[in-house]
Amino acid sequence: MNILVTGGAGFLGSHLIDRLLEQGHEVICLDNYFTGAKTNVAHHFDNPRFELIRHDVTEPFRLEVDQIYNLACPASPVHYQYNAIKTVKTSVMGAINCLGLAKRVNARVFQASTSEVYGDPDVHPQPESYRGNVNPIGIRACYDEGKRVAETLFFDYHRQNKVDIRIARIFNTYGPRMHPADGRVVSNFIVQALRGENITIYGDGQQTRSFCYCEDLVEGFIRLMNHDAITGPVNLGNPNEFTIKQLAELIIKKVGGSSELVFEPLPSDDPMQRQPVIDLAREALGWEPRVQLDEGLDRTIAYFKTILQP
Ligand code: NAD
Ligand code: UDP
Repeated sequence: MNILVTGGAGFLGSHLIDRLLEQGHEVICLDNYFTGAKTNVAHHFDNPRFELIRHDVTEPFRLEVDQIYNLACPASPVHYQYNAIKTVKTSVMGAINCLGLAKRVNARVFQASTSEVYGDPDVHPQPESYRGNVNPIGIRACYDEGKRVAETLFFDYHRQNKVDIRIARIFNTYGPRMHPADGRVVSNFIVQALRGENITIYGDGQQTRSFCYCEDLVEGFIRLMNHDAITGPVNLGNPNEFTIKQLAELIIKKVGGSSELVFEPLPSDDPMQRQPVIDLAREALGWEPRVQLDEGLDRTIAYFKTILQP
């Protein structure tokens, strides 16, 4: 198949592209390099089945493809808050442009949605049926509401124009190729520990997240995209829940060194708990995460050691 991956030069997009090329597909990566980098896909430059286009998803694009994975959007709070208006545009215009293309060329289109659609959840753990608790005027809203509107657009194009859609709600995912300055918790803590700096915990560290390894997640993407019937939304994530303080302690233990925990103010609207219910993914896709935090962190630490070497 001919497959377009928007945001393909980012962390998750580049892992997805590795798998799609391995499977023998033709892949077009479209990215504006806001948080991604050519180096994430440079190992495919001499593959004739791979093409790279520098383009912004807020501007329309015309390509002949069979499938579209729409991943273009900064995912780390630091980066999506840097230009909040642009983040909304990326989610909303990006979705419209992908859906318009899918409609025109009759392609199946996949949306990388997020557990952030549940906001600061008052139902725990979160099933797909939970409608969420998002503050529409807060500092995370550009991302959360942008992704919620994208889901709305996907379902409206599906109902009105019969566009073939797939939606994954992704929970916190980590692994090699996260940018050292990405700003999300796993990469921040590993980079701080490796540099012998103190580990910055926001709040008291009792808030929780459930961490999925990138390879597991990409397997879920491909299963959902190629499922005959299911539109989603389908939660994809690892249900093993940890407090942020536990994560910090585990990373310090693995890396060694002299880092200490320092506590900084909790940003507003930071969700207090997050854990996916993955029954739907288990039953419908036969999918389950295999790499647990212990092993995933070892692999991620090994990666950061190679790129942080002087
Ligand atoms: P990332 O920041 O590494 O990748 C995003 C990619 O999109 C980057 O390559 C960036 O340059 C590109 N991009 C951003 N704005 C663009 C625009 N306007 N036009 C074209 N390209 C643009 O983040 P990631 O973790 O790889 O996330 C990929 C997708 O998965 C995002 O849509 C994100 O919202 C979603 N997601 C990720 C997680 C996670 O934990 N990693 C969780 C939930 C949802
Ligand atoms: N966090 C932290 N220190 C950091 C970065 C993040 O304590 O250096 C916290 C953050 O406040 C949040 C959790 O870790 O409670 C996860 O943050 P991240 O930005 O990775 O993802 P999200 O909040 O979008 O789930």
